[in-house]
Amino acid sequence: MTAKAPFQEVVELIKESGGAALAECFQCGTCSATCPWRDHFSFLPRKMFQEARMGLTDFESDATWRCVTCNKCVQRCPRGVPIIELMRALRRSVIGMGIAEAPTALSGALRNLSAAGNPMGEAGENRNAWAEGLGVKAFNASTEYLLFPCCYTAFDPAMKNVGRSTAGVLSAAGVDFGILEGISCCGESVRKAGDEELFKQLAGVNIQLFKECGVRKIVVNSPHCYHTLVNEYPELDGRFEIVHTSQLMAQLVDQGRLPLPSAITGKTTYHDPCYLGRHSGMYDEPRRLIAASGAELVEMEPARADSLCCGGGGGRIWMETPRSERFCEERLRQAAATGADTLVTACPYCLSNFRDTALNQSLSEKFSVIDISELIARAL
Ligand code: SF4
Ligand code: SF4
Repeated sequence: MTAKAPFQEVVELIKESGGAALAECFQCGTCSATCPWRDHFSFLPRKMFQEARMGLTDFESDATWRCVTCNKCVQRCPRGVPIIELMRALRRSVIGMGIAEAPTALSGALRNLSAAGNPMGEAGENRNAWAEGLGVKAFNASTEYLLFPCCYTAFDPAMKNVGRSTAGVLSAAGVDFGILEGISCCGESVRKAGDEELFKQLAGVNIQLFKECGVRKIVVNSPHCYHTLVNEYPELDGRFEIVHTSQLMAQLVDQGRLPLPSAITGKTTYHDPCYLGRHSGMYDEPRRLIAASGAELVEMEPARADSLCCGGGGGRIWMETPRSERFCEERLRQAAATGADTLVTACPYCLSNFRDTALNQSLSEKFSVIDISELIARAL
């Protein structure tokens, strides 16, 4: 098949890959007007859907990989078109059917996930090294919560403090939690990148492990893990009670189990991660925690459902984006404009993107970028 083939078979292929909802699009263009790429790069979802309906999809186009699955357009589409599902169908046509090449960096992450169970290609036995010296117990069937830090938190040395802070906060509140050996990546970005089989493989490993070990409740620090475990694991018969760290910590504060005597001073702004906010509706829990820490919250423009994506969703965290096209550059300028000295977020992808960008913009000296768990740990 050529890259640009006006054939009915292309239409059928996209439908078979999950793109039947293309028929519902009436080409109003709201998605293109809403998309954060609008200000950074020529990426037009409406045009992609029109081409797909006509069998004119260019599978080799960079556009196939641009959607960060931020959910902004989905909230505005007047026809309720499942736009992220359509993007996934286009990618599945590429990856599942081998029609064209995925971007090199993404292919590398997918190979690592297939071989090692994590996108960095790290040895699985090092997954819990972040917890060394903390005395976190091994999960057993009578433990209340399994703590499931995402791959970034587990393996990236710059992110380990997020896991360590979370463990410190949960311990301080007397939460009964433990960690497990043998966990794989939750598979979220794999599925968004279109590799359905690898997603099922990774999720299957986790679901089987959780069942064998008697896991009932899982606390996750990544909104991407949260969304996948809540919405996608049940399709594979993986039904567990999932809480995000910000949700659990807010509950602990409300229950009076988490005194925070070391009040934080200064101004803090909060970035709503797409998968915690727009995808999961959690806007208030992190804000309640910031208030409980003593910090003064100053809101960014835009915030909550209108928040600008950091650019890391939909597998883009594993792909190269030219600096001039990165949303996180603009988002950090919005954060700095509040006059805050600290930017708090609640997602490892956002955290990683903002920390790198703060270094690029020479903001890291006067502006600290931290996870909500790190803020609360400082207030203990
Ligand atoms: S907003 Fe919905 S109906 Fe309008 S062009 Fe986009 S997908 Fe189609
Ligand atoms: S989900 Fe976000 S990035 Fe993807 S097309 Fe919609 S608005 Fe654009």
